[in-house]
Amino acid sequence: MKYCRFQLDGQAYYGLVESVAGRVAILRTLVTAPEESDGDLEGLRTRRIEPIPMDEAALLPPVQPSKIVCVGRNYREHAAELGHEVPKEPLLFFKPSSALLAPGGVVRRPKISQRVDYEGELCVVIGKTCYQPPPEEDVRRCILGYTCLNDVTARDLQNRDGQWARAKGFDTSCPVGPLVTDEIDPWTGVGVETRVNGAVKQQGNTRDFIFALDVVIRYIAQTMTLFPGDLIATGTPAGVGPVVAGDVVEVSVEGVGTLRNSVVDE
Ligand code: MG
Repeated sequence: MKYCRFQLDGQAYYGLVESVAGRVAILRTLVTAPEESDGDLEGLRTRRIEPIPMDEAALLPPVQPSKIVCVGRNYREHAAELGHEVPKEPLLFFKPSSALLAPGGVVRRPKISQRVDYEGELCVVIGKTCYQPPPEEDVRRCILGYTCLNDVTARDLQNRDGQWARAKGFDTSCPVGPLVTDEIDPWTGVGVETRVNGAVKQQGNTRDFIFALDVVIRYIAQTMTLFPGDLIATGTPAGVGPVVAGDVVEVSVEGVGTLRNSVVDE
């Protein structure tokens, strides 16, 4: 199942994304928010609407998270390209909800930064409250689905600041979407690709994670409650690089789709 969030006549709706005659469209809205489904997407009530082609929908970020937890350096080659050791346990940081940006939205490079990078990532959407799960529990049941995320980073501020709050948390630094799907399996391998102005810059696969998603979820939930709708950005593959005003960045996750955003100077 695939869903998005969109705006129509000034109101926000969740919409089921389906294929009709080779065209991807929103045919039904969800009466209950997916985050309130207790992980049961199939059981959600829906209402039929006049079909809206996905490429004509006014998309919003597909979730309204209480927090966005990010994993740094979760691919060996990316750790190496930045000159870092492979971490011994997951390296976590946050992005604030004020950083969220819709698919098609514009990334604004902050005036105080000279170097802003893309970081294409697979993103987990939590579906069930999760805190200190017992060892026998399969934490995959806490996952509602997956989407694309661009962990936009002011690299110079990251290198200068002891904490990454400014570097990773500025407004528009968290494009996410376009939809959430439960139809992929990152444990068996999902491709993650980033393109800038059509040129391929990053090509990774979740098979190469240093820490598998269940390890990451357990690690986070050891100290903080994951709530439905919370996001986990799972780290970026090798090939990060800068963007400048006028660039268009696309993050594609196999089986999810493409998150597309343009860049301007603040
Ligand atoms: Mg990242």
